[in-house]
Amino acid sequence: MSLQAPILSPHELTAAADTFGTPLYVYHAERIAWQYNRLTQAFAGCDARFFYACKALTNLNILKYIRRLGANLDCVSIQEVRLGLLAGFEPRQILFTPNSTHFGEYLEAVGLGVRINIDSLPILERFGKEYGASYPVCLRLNPHIMAGGNLKISTGHAQSKFGISVLQMDAILEVTQRENLQVEGIHMHTGSDIKDVHVFLEGLQLMLSLSARFPGLAYIDLGSGFKVPYRAGDPETDVELLGQRLSAAMSEHARATGQQLQVWFEPGKFLVSDSGYLVVQANLVKQTPTDLFVGVNSGFNHLIRPMFYDAYHDIENLSNADGEPRPYTVVGNICETDTFARDRPIAEVSVGDLLVFRNAGAYGFEMSSRFNARPRPAEVLYIDGQPLLIRRRETFEDLLQGQEAVL
Ligand SMILES: *Cc1c(COP(=O)(O)O)cnc(C)c1O
Repeated sequence: MSLQAPILSPHELTAAADTFGTPLYVYHAERIAWQYNRLTQAFAGCDARFFYACKALTNLNILKYIRRLGANLDCVSIQEVRLGLLAGFEPRQILFTPNSTHFGEYLEAVGLGVRINIDSLPILERFGKEYGASYPVCLRLNPHIMAGGNLKISTGHAQSKFGISVLQMDAILEVTQRENLQVEGIHMHTGSDIKDVHVFLEGLQLMLSLSARFPGLAYIDLGSGFKVPYRAGDPETDVELLGQRLSAAMSEHARATGQQLQVWFEPGKFLVSDSGYLVVQANLVKQTPTDLFVGVNSGFNHLIRPMFYDAYHDIENLSNADGEPRPYTVVGNICETDTFARDRPIAEVSVGDLLVFRNAGAYGFEMSSRFNARPRPAEVLYIDGQPLLIRRRETFEDLLQGQEAVL
């Protein structure tokens, strides 16, 4: 294996855009494998399992590829569960982790045979009455740890809607014991963009301190939130350090208690973010009294992270890489202020140039919409040096699909 993380070259990105048009999502299979290997190596010292949190990117080909790498799957809706089964995951390789969903979805998930993660007391109670000891469950706990890139993606703090509060442990045990529920795992997920290894270790200690309460416990699921660097010099979660510390803590726990537990993780962004690129074309270059705008053939309908999360995405000019950098305000073609970047130095842009947004694999296409009645981009997977179309570009006809003509 090379020591450098694989990346797609400007030439490869341009070739894909020439073949399939723009805007275009391009993913790099070997980069996903690289990230996956990093994780398995980092956690080789403990009995770790990885469940790809597929809400980051659900294209069936991506799911199949990640399954072949050896990962399992974390799903937040019954539709994601069905996609996972279609991609070839065994039911017991799938963990269903919904929030505020109808009880009927849990029934469906049980019918499909997947693992269930319960995140509220009312559902726990109902599930217990329905299934008792006959169907094991995982409990999503809220550890009351504030962490994550911003409040929208922080899920483990005291006021978050997610999980059952660890302060309600007495009520949890009352239900699990009364209904004879088999708790096979306990889970926490404190949010996304967590750079601090300490947050995971703090969560682990809390989970380990609770583990004795659940006889038959097989795993502790620490969720995810591993941060990836979006710009040069950005901090990222030191998964190698976390792996060492965590393995030590797990060995110590096993020694002290005799309890052998697996550790599960649910990486989403970590696996697919830096494998993804959004290639767009410059429609317009416009100087105003305040800004030098470049308007591209995309917008927050295709990549909403900069507007929704104030996320930074690297932007480069593929067509004039060596041009003189100028400070561009990069905007989309949507009738809404959809600013990708303000005063960003980019090699001089001419109309028709191809620009690329990096790190667009996670929550990019997946959060896209048809706002302004603009179709969604195509998706391409580069694998073994070949760009393969994995979702065709939407067309005008797609916008009409499903509509009923009543007038
Ligand atoms: C979104 C989500 C993840 C993945 O988070 P990332 O920051 O993308 O790694 C993991 N587990 C659960 C339950 C989630 O909702």
